[in-house]
Parts: sequence; structure tokens; C-alpha cells
Amino acid sequence: MNPLSGRHALVTGGGRGIGAAVARRLAELGAEVTITGRDEGRIRDVAEAAGLRGLALDVTDPESVAAAFAAAGPVHILVNNAGIAKAVPFLKTDPGQWGDILRTDLTGPFLCTQAALPGMLAAGWGRVVNIASTAGLKGLAYCAAYCAAKHGLIGLTRALAAELATKPVTVNAICPGYVDTGMTEQTLRTIMNRTGRSREQALAEITAGNPQGRLITPEEVAEAVAWLCLPGSGSVTGQSIAVAGGEVMVG
Ligand code: NDP
Repeated sequence: MNPLSGRHALVTGGGRGIGAAVARRLAELGAEVTITGRDEGRIRDVAEAAGLRGLALDVTDPESVAAAFAAAGPVHILVNNAGIAKAVPFLKTDPGQWGDILRTDLTGPFLCTQAALPGMLAAGWGRVVNIASTAGLKGLAYCAAYCAAKHGLIGLTRALAAELATKPVTVNAICPGYVDTGMTEQTLRTIMNRTGRSREQALAEITAGNPQGRLITPEEVAEAVAWLCLPGSGSVTGQSIAVAGGEVMVG
């Protein structure tokens, strides 16, 4: 069964973490997959090892976005996964940190979607999947910039889904809770450094927010992304689907 055969998927930040799991799953379902990252040599090596295509792309740089999408060719599935996070108290959030997070987590998906959409419309089929966060659905202390960016990404998802409702392109967001990746490892280190807690205590603190009491796996996020990309998911658009063990319940 190769339901995504003939489809070209591009996953931003597909070299590690959630993006790597998404890329693997879409390839298993038959898609031709391009992964991107900021370091050209590294992303090419990672892609080659995984049997995928790798391209340099910094989502914050409009010229880099234009060059990467020109090199990629028409994209049918765009997964806006690249993102950064930083936990800082609001009064200590400087405009540089605010701008970095907004540029990466919100303007990046805007630029990449603008670059990919004409190809989807020309092909008569497309899927845009934005990796948001439960921080896009609720407020999180010490994460004002990240929450603002991810809430904005959900707004972008809804607005574009409405605008494209009569076209054969769906636009959705996946909202993971804490996932077992390098980003969460960084969060754990921040908690340990700021509070003197052990890694085990820091992990217990962040998993306490998930009623299942655990981290989400990158593969669980990938499965939800893959489902949105299947041919039978064409009526699902404008949604923000939490993959978070019941951390948030919306609907
Ligand atoms: P990682 O830190 O493991 O990976 C981040 C990815 O983003 C890397 O592949 C990195 O690529 C890429 N990236 C960062 N900045 C840029 C940029 N300017 N241009 C291009 N690529 C960039 O994070 P995760 O896998 O955990 O996170 C992936 C997404 O999931 C993010 O959007 C994150 O906000 C979201 N998310 C994560 C959660 C978690 O708990 N981990 C929870 C909810 C959402 P490279 O360094 O190779 O350039």
C-alpha cells in the first residue's frame, strides 16, 4: 500500500526530531520526500543515509526559501515543522528573542507555504500541515513568544483553510504536547539549571501536564501528520489536532 505514491513531500527541519519521524513515515507511505535544514552538508548527509533528498533551507530567510523551493520542484505535501523554542520570563524576553521565535515559528511557515502553494494548485492536490503545539491552544508560563507564534500559526492555518476551501488543498495544524526530542531535552536542561532540580524531577514536572504522564513520541506525531496527508482526509481542513495525551481537549 503506497497511498502517497506520486506525491512529493517537503518537510522543513526534517533532519532530526519530529521532522525526521514525519519524513520517514511519509516515505513509508510512498511519497518522494525532501528534508531541509540550515546546514547544507549535514542535511545532505542525513538525507542520503535515510534514502531521501536533502536541501539547505533557512525558513527565516526569504531568499533561502525561494532558492530551496526552486531547487525542490513542485511540492504536493508541505510540512512546516522547523521551529525553535525558548523559555524566558516575559519581562526578560528581549526583542531579539521575540523576533527570532516569531520569524522561525510563524513567518517561516508563511514564507514556505507561499512558495509551495502555487505548485499544489497547479497539481490540483495539496496538503499543508503545520506543526504547532499545545502552546498554540493554551497559555504556557515563561513562553510568551513561543505561545504567540504558535497561536499565530493556528490562526494562519484557519485563515488559509477558509481561503482555500473550494480548492483541492487542505491546511491543518498538529499540536503536540512535550515530545521526546532535542527541543524537550533543552527544556529539561533549562529547568535543571534554573531550579537545581534533577533531570528526573524536571521530567516529572513536564510530564505532569500530560494526563497520560509521559512524553509523546515523534512517531505518534508523524502518524497524525501522515493521516492528514492520506487521500481520504480531504474533508479535514482548518483543524488543530492535539497529539498530547489529553493535555488539551477542544472541539
Ligand atoms: P528539534 O529542536 O529537535 O528540531 C528543530 C528542527 O527545526 C531542526 O530540524 C532544525 O533544523 C529546524 N530549524 C530550526 N530553525 C530553523 C530555521 N531557521 N530554518 C530551518 N530549519 C530550522 O525540535 P522538535 O523536533 O522537537 O520540534 C519540531 C517542531 O515541533 C517545532 O516546530 C516545535 O515547535 C514543534 N513542537 C515540539 C514539541 C516538543 O516537545 N519537542 C512540542 C510541540 C511542538 P537544523 O538545525 O538542521 O537547521
